[in-house]
Amino acid sequence: MSIKKLEQQYELAVYPRRDVVLVRGKGARLFDDQDREYIDCASNVGVSNIGHGHATVAKAVYEQYLTLGNCYSMFYNPVRARLAEKLAELTPGDLNRVFFCNSGAEANEAALKFARSSTGKPEIIASMRGFHGKTMGALATTWGPEYQKPFAPMLPGVRHVPYNKFEKLEAAVGERTAAILLEPVQGEGGVRVGDRQFFEKVRQLCDDRNILLIMDEVQTGFGRTGTMFACEQFAVPDLLCLAKSLAGGLPMGAVLCSDRVEVPLKSHTSTFGGNPIACAASLATIGVIENENLVENAKTLGAYFQERLRAIESRRIREVRGLGLMIGVELKEKAGPYVQKLMDRGVIVLLAGATVIRLLPPLVITKEDIDTVVDALKAVLAD
Ligand SMILES: *Cc1c(COP(=O)(O)O)cnc(C)c1O
Repeated sequence: MSIKKLEQQYELAVYPRRDVVLVRGKGARLFDDQDREYIDCASNVGVSNIGHGHATVAKAVYEQYLTLGNCYSMFYNPVRARLAEKLAELTPGDLNRVFFCNSGAEANEAALKFARSSTGKPEIIASMRGFHGKTMGALATTWGPEYQKPFAPMLPGVRHVPYNKFEKLEAAVGERTAAILLEPVQGEGGVRVGDRQFFEKVRQLCDDRNILLIMDEVQTGFGRTGTMFACEQFAVPDLLCLAKSLAGGLPMGAVLCSDRVEVPLKSHTSTFGGNPIACAASLATIGVIENENLVENAKTLGAYFQERLRAIESRRIREVRGLGLMIGVELKEKAGPYVQKLMDRGVIVLLAGATVIRLLPPLVITKEDIDTVVDALKAVLAD
């Protein structure tokens, strides 16, 4: 049976699939089973920030598996210790302690629990168009009736307010508000960049009202927006949720916590959380980001990419927006058909809602590749 038929027959059909079998990748390139080459502008939704097949990470993973592949967190472990220290150093403010898990949804789940236990209050305020994962707790904070409805009832105590609208958010805050959960740039919600003044006011409100600020940087973390973490450009949160590119492609999540966060012993744990292989991959990945100046790359090439996109003259484009190498091209029509047209021209992109083409290339992408992508977009969006 063909690869496509096997997957169609033996897996639950929850992912809308594209008609391509990807078999390998190198840097910012992906290759299908016919050995056709694609420029990757998706990075597996922000996982592959350092590009595909990086030898430094491969070596770290291989060697760690031979040394000690698993170590439940009831024991101390040197790789985990070093990564915890590294993350505390890398993150701003007093985000000094970490909880390790295995995915973005899990990081948000943990943050929601920590917010409740630390404040003794039950309610969470999240934003319209926000995306925080699809497990039961995280799903209650994710915007979108289409995701929530089949699985109702949701976790109670969650309210959604418009993004970047401080008065609306302030009006939703009450005595029982434990935390405010926001993405610094909304990814799934259409690549909507946070407003700096909005975030500064939210930070002040949290300080004044004993509310914890949770920032979901699962997609924006590790250089994507031109700083190591996007929150550096907005406001320092009390809980910082990370996953996607944290371990260079291996499954891993983490919640960095400020001194205001307290969690009772044994109240939240994870078997695979902080396993040495993921930790070794993460340390190697962070090393690559630092040594190859990928944060700076995201900043300069992001600005270049956005400038070139804004120069495209097409009656189909409504707006180009983004931060660093997290870019959205909003069309005046449905964007879906253009995803396939771009793939036919050897460029893989993402959607963010019905009308937005989302570009999240690996941070190792070259200027030449960006030029090729701009030409492809120009061609498919021409009349
Ligand atoms: C992808 C994503 C998640 C969910 O991560 P999973 O690893 O798929 O559970 C949560 N928040 C944001 C902002 C994301 O982009």
